[in-house]
Amino acid sequence: MFSTGLFLYLSISFIAFNEKKKTPTDSEISNHQVYFSISLFRSMNLSKNEEDYLKALFHLTMEVDAETAGTNQMADELSVSPASVNGMVKKLKTKKLVDSEKYGKLKLTETGKSEAILLIRKHRLWETFLYEHLNFSWDEVHEVAEQLEHIKSPKLIQQLDAFLGNPSVDPHGDVIPNSEGGFSMKSKKSLVEVQAGQKCTVVAVKDASVAFLQMVSELGIGLQTEIRVKHVHEFDASRTLLINNLERVVSLKFSENVFVKELN
Ligand SMILES: [Zn+2]
Repeated sequence: MFSTGLFLYLSISFIAFNEKKKTPTDSEISNHQVYFSISLFRSMNLSKNEEDYLKALFHLTMEVDAETAGTNQMADELSVSPASVNGMVKKLKTKKLVDSEKYGKLKLTETGKSEAILLIRKHRLWETFLYEHLNFSWDEVHEVAEQLEHIKSPKLIQQLDAFLGNPSVDPHGDVIPNSEGGFSMKSKKSLVEVQAGQKCTVVAVKDASVAFLQMVSELGIGLQTEIRVKHVHEFDASRTLLINNLERVVSLKFSENVFVKELN
């Protein structure tokens, strides 16, 4: 059994932010790989709330290739008040996990980044496990993974990763950082960018809300589902799609939340 009390903190130091070296395939053209190296030497015991803030800041900055995020953006992302964000940011700055620049723009420190990436890794591995082995549906995995990601046993995650066969993407098509902290950042194309008459397959979804994922399931959409954009309605940019030979009309907002790979 892994020694209790001591929990290892994966310090993942940022090494490089390179363009992919090998010849890229179509879907990889605008992807780049981020490399981290992991060492197991520090211990840091963060609360669930602190971890959620780090993850929110990761989603608003690193994941979308942005340098910083504002207090209001954080408040929206976490559904809390800006005052709560300020309170927590103060705490995270003392712990050297978050930095703020002028005008209150927030960013993760190197330590903050490694903590956030570890959380993302745990979250996505748990989602994969729930989906593949416990019969959870696409729209159910996120809520449960939100709870499981806070378990602090490095051995558990290492074994889970091995048990799953070191998967590289989760059930939503999002990249799972590997045990060295490496992952590729994809510039994803949304359904909005697909012209009428074109075919594409679903590679990921942006919105992880239960309401959205239920709608996705009801429309018969999953990862790798083939969609043909039949028509884009001029009035409100809603779209008529052909999914499994059935015509479905979806809103612009819906299309913005579905990531696809175009087929020729
Ligand atoms: Zn999730």
